[in-house]
Formats: sequence, structure tokens, C-alpha cells
Amino acid sequence: MSANELRTTATTAIVDREPFDTTMPEALNEIWASDVFDVTTMEESLSKSAFKEMKAAVQTGAPLDPTTADVVAAAMKDWALSKGAKFFSHVFYPLTNITAEKHDGFIVTNGDGRAITEFTGSILIKGEPDGSSFPNGSLRTTNAARGYTAWDPTSPAYVMRRANGATLMIPSVFMSWTGESLDKKIPLLRSNSAMDSAAKRVLELMGETEVATLNSSCGAEQEYFLVDAHFANARPDLLLAGRTLFGAPSPKGQEFDDHYFGAIPERVQVFMQDFEDQMYRLGIPAKTHHNEVAPGQFEIAPYFEAANVAADHQQLMMTIMTSTAKAHGFMCLLHEKPFAGLNGSGKHVNWSVGNSTQGNLLDPGHTPAENLNFLLFCGAVIRGVHLYGPLLRAVIASAGNDHRLGANEAPPAILSVYLGEQLEAVFESIRSGIASDLADGGTMDLGLAQILPFSRDPGDRNRTSPFAFTGNRFEFRAVGSGQSVSGPLIAMNTILADSLAWIADELEAAFARGLDKPVAVATVLQELMEMHGNVVFGGDGYSSDWHADAVAERGLRNIPTTADALPELVTDEVKGLFERTGVLSEAELESRYEVYSEQYILSIGVEADLVVELARTMIYPAAMKYLAELTTTVASAGSLGIEIDPSPAAAIGTAATALMSAVDALESALAVEDFDESVEKHMQHCAETLRDGMDAVRTHADTLETLVADAHWPLPKYREMLFIR
Ligand code: ADP
Ligand code: MG
Repeated sequence: MSANELRTTATTAIVDREPFDTTMPEALNEIWASDVFDVTTMEESLSKSAFKEMKAAVQTGAPLDPTTADVVAAAMKDWALSKGAKFFSHVFYPLTNITAEKHDGFIVTNGDGRAITEFTGSILIKGEPDGSSFPNGSLRTTNAARGYTAWDPTSPAYVMRRANGATLMIPSVFMSWTGESLDKKIPLLRSNSAMDSAAKRVLELMGETEVATLNSSCGAEQEYFLVDAHFANARPDLLLAGRTLFGAPSPKGQEFDDHYFGAIPERVQVFMQDFEDQMYRLGIPAKTHHNEVAPGQFEIAPYFEAANVAADHQQLMMTIMTSTAKAHGFMCLLHEKPFAGLNGSGKHVNWSVGNSTQGNLLDPGHTPAENLNFLLFCGAVIRGVHLYGPLLRAVIASAGNDHRLGANEAPPAILSVYLGEQLEAVFESIRSGIASDLADGGTMDLGLAQILPFSRDPGDRNRTSPFAFTGNRFEFRAVGSGQSVSGPLIAMNTILADSLAWIADELEAAFARGLDKPVAVATVLQELMEMHGNVVFGGDGYSSDWHADAVAERGLRNIPTTADALPELVTDEVKGLFERTGVLSEAELESRYEVYSEQYILSIGVEADLVVELARTMIYPAAMKYLAELTTTVASAGSLGIEIDPSPAAAIGTAATALMSAVDALESALAVEDFDESVEKHMQHCAETLRDGMDAVRTHADTLETLVADAHWPLPKYREMLFIR
């Protein structure tokens, strides 16, 4: 079928669609985590001593001894086989935003041809997927291409079901044969332990006698679009680039605000329930779902979990959403900006740190001691965002996210911290010298007990801030919908670790000078606020005043594009940060920079190629076909003495000619190859010349869409994709 036929038959196909085969829902307690080899399953299937060792490994990441590993592997295999699994796979998280897996059978045959199953501790712990074609940023040459996966026992194994089979999935790290990280999990685990050590130092200095291991937590809110597959399949741009590269605005868009939090369309709700049941089986706590601002846009948010598990679950969730959408005749769009002129999709990463003895350290708490700890941790975040704002900008950089940031629908590309009115006032009074009052015998009543209920009220939140305190956590709101949450989590944990280490040094010095606890804390925080308080901003992040003031008055950086942001990964400051905290070596960081910049260049390149192809082979021909019809009609009517206004034909001729010259210009820009081996120059070429070139082609194409007869138009229109369900 031609694209045009696909488009014209889509609506009928959608209307005639068979209803999704629904069965009665299963009870939550029956499906919850039923496909997870979790602590409860382990307790049931392991000996007491093996279970004890395994539990310690889960909680602290302590290595297993080989005998226990064998016992665990055997139990895991029996459990998986009982679920119908015949294969197992180490699943890992390479430097792309997707997951990777290599499947192996449990089966081995013995001498007389009988099949037996085998799965030992060493197979469980280590796999060798080769993986020479995973992006590694020069960390491996192909002749030394071996990459290893190793089981991460802190993230539970699970069984992944497909229509007629199941596979045991083992969450794993992925590294080179020299032990360098080739993935997103290793640095996340390392950043967590760096944060743990630094936090312990601070808490012990603050007189806490019992301090359990600290962990970071993450709850990610995922926005996405659903488009009927009949339309999506007729849009090569959605299939290849995940976003529309063309499309005139729909006469009705999101201006009525009638979709946001409206009733969920039945077909979408059926889809949601289906994929959430699958999540429940996998122990992923789906908690809220609702419509989002743009038509066809929705959100799902699971309940927060330990960051490492949440990151794995987030990846898994994106996979399940995409495949389930397919089964329901939708295409699920995780791209940050699928439709021009409508809100894009983000992923708000809610993050906090805590442990079982002190609780959540970003929760103000109710006692003066809890308040002091909270102020130190919150101050540490402020310092981190100020010092490493460009790093935070770099970890959310992608070709897709560039369309959102700073476009008045998502936070600006300037990193600032929103604290809320009350907490901001507290930090301001610290900045203006509360320490000296305290030293003179003043009291420390900061009114923190009120902050908690106040900031938790979403009505009081500042939606224009990229990094907002929301009562007991920070919400990094600038993350892109298609991105892995690991990069942001690694950056947040690491800057926190660095700041807590600085605070510990300063506290030690203050105590050495004989200051008592509240005065020491206020003194350290005063110094911190004097140096870094400029990053705290409670105003409108979308306003143009802020864009000017942030840079001119406060010295913050505005980093508009990925091409500008990615080089910030490899500055001396950032290298020092990651080296000091032991999260990434210089070589590992350089390799990431290389991989991410290559991904950026490739994705803009694919889009630009596609723009050229679609403009030449679909849009221009449609315009010419209609133009031919028009001119023939005008001419034959003229021969009958009927005069027809030739201006519509002329308008098409003009737009089509402009389209083709924009296409030629873009094609020449694509042919440029001389960047003196400078990846920075190449990225800038993409960010400026290619993006502008694509926009130019699009403008003329979108004009043509409003001139050419509907029946000739090859690509499904915005109004169809957004409103027909
Ligand atoms: P909103 O849309 O108001 O921001 P949601 O309920 O949609 O709130 O999402 C908030 C997310 O933050 C959820 O995933 C929630 O579990 C998570 N969250 C709540 N408390 C914490 C915390 N202490 N640390 C990390 N994440 C949290
Ligand atoms: Mg939120």
C-alpha cells in the first residue's frame, strides 16, 4: 500500500477495529511480583544460611561466595523452569537509552542425547555477551572486544513472558575486560556508595551514633503519547525518528486544556490496565496514571524505589509500554517532542537519599536535630547544583530534549534550584548571618515543621523550575521522556557526595574551633550560601528577564543545545569530581562523551536525511500532482470561457519551488564532512545548520499541506493522529 492509501484507509480500519480481547482482571495480590525472584521467593527456596548470605548481598552489594552462588543459581533455575522459562539472559544497560540482552538456553545434552538443564553459580554471576558492537567510546578495540556482564544481586531477577514463552532475566552490569564500565549501572552503583560514605561522615560528625547504609531513591514520572498504529505506520518519520518532521498545526490543539486530567479514553485505559498488570507481575509499583496536557498525551508514575532498582524498572517499563501499545494497535511515542506546537514529554525524576536509621534526609523532620541534618543535606544539593549545573545540563542533553528545554513548556536550559518560599526564607536568613545570633545565645527556631505540609501541596509548586524541592525530595524536571534515569541519578548522587565531603571538612574545622553544633552548622551553611546561594531562584523560569538576569547578574550558565552541553562532561571540574568520588575514571568519562556526541550527530543526521527523502519523494510529488490537476482544470475551463482564479495553483508552485531549494540547501549541508576531526564542530553543525535546514524545509512543506487537496496528501495529519482513537 502506498502511504497515501495507508492514510486514507486508516480511519476506516480504526473505526472497524475488533475490541481488545479482555479477560476479567486478576486480583492484585495474585499477580504482584509473581514473576520476580524476590526476597520472599528466595526465602522459600533457599537454605537458611544461603538465604542469609543472599540477603546481605541484596542489601549491601556484598559478594557471594561461589558455593552459595551455585545454590542460588539452582534455586533460581528451578523457579524459572516452573514458570515455563527455557532461556535465561543477563540484561544490561549500555550507553544507549535502551536495554540489551543475550539469551542462552538452560538446555545441554548429555552423551546419550538426552536433554538436561544446567545453570551454575558461575553462569549466573558472569556472562560474556561479546558485544563488540555496543557503543564503547574507544574503550575497547574490536580485537579485544570481549565485554562482560556480571549479575547485580541488588536488583532482583525476573521472568519475562512473551505470547508463548518466558525468559529468566538477570539484571547485570556490563564492563570491558579491563574492568571499565561500559554501561549506566556501574556508575550508578558507584555514585550511591560515594554518597553513602560522604553522608556517613557528615552524620557521624553530627553526633549520630548508629548510621545504616544510605541509599538514593527515585520515583520517575513518565510522559508519553499514543498514536494509532494505522497512522503511525504511514508516517516514516514516526517510525524512524520517533517524531513528526512535518505537519501543519491542527486547527484544534491543546488550547482548550480539555484533555489535561480529563476522563481517560476507554481504549487507552484498557491499554494502561494491561501494561500495568504486566508491571505488577514484575514487581513494578505502578501508582498513578492520567491524561497530560496535549491531546493524545498521558503519564504514568510508579511509586518510588531504591534508585538502582527504580532505574532498572524504568527501562523495563519503557520496554513494556512500547510492546503493549503495539498489541493494542497503538504506537507509544517516548520522544521528547513528537509534535511541533504541542507540549513535549518529560520524565520528572524525584530523588531523595536516606537510610533505615535517620530516615529520609531530605525530609525536614520534626526535631531540631533532624532539622540540622536536613539543612546540611539540602545545602549540599544547593552547592552541587551551583557548582555542577553544566554537568546536570549535560546529563539531560539529547537531540530530542533540545526541542523542549527553554521552549516555555519545560524548564529552561539554565539550572537553578527552587526551594519554595518558606525554605528559601530559611536559607536566606542563614545567609544573612543567623550564626552570629545563635552564638550570642539566640534560638534556632526556623519554623521547619511547617515546610513539610506546605511544600507538599502541588498547588504551590513552581512548574517552571528545572530542579525543585517538593517537601521531602528534589524533582529534576528537565529530564527527557525517552532518557534513562541513570545519568541524572549518577550526577545527583555524585554532586551530593562531593558537597557532603566538603561540608564534612568544614564541620570538622568548625568543631575544631570550638563551635557548638547549631552554630557550626549555621556557619558552614552561611559560607555555603555566600558562595552558592545565587543558584536559588523562586521566580518564573520561563520569563525572559530570568534568562537575562540568570546569566548577567547571577553568573549562571544558559546552555541551549546538546552541542553546547555535551562538552561540559569532560571539563577539568567534572573530571575532578568523578575521579575524586571514584564514580568514573577520566577514560570512562571521555568514552561517554564520545558515545553521546556520536549519538547526537547520528540522530540529527538520520532526521535530516529523512527530511530530504520525504520532501522529495512524498511531499513534492503530492504537490505536483495536485498542481497538474489544477492547471489542467484552469486551462480546460478557460477554453470553455469559464475563468478560474489561477492564484491557488500559483501559491502551490511558489511553495513547492521554495521547498525544493530548501531541500537542496539541506542536502549540501549534509554533505559537509570537513570538521577538522573536531566533534564539537560537527555537533555545532548539526545544532545550527542542519536543524535550521530541516526547519526551513518543514515550513514550506507545512504550507503545502494547507494548500494541497486533502485526498492527495500522503502523510496522516496532526488532527487525525491526535484526535482519532
Ligand atoms: P506530582 O505529579 O505531584 O509531582 P506524582 O505522584 O505524580 O506527583 O509523582 C511523584 C513521584 O515522586 C512518585 O513516583 C512518588 O513515588 C515519588 N516520590 C515520593 N516521595 C519520594 C521520595 N521521598 N523520594 C523519591 N521519590 C519520591
Ligand atoms: Mg511531579
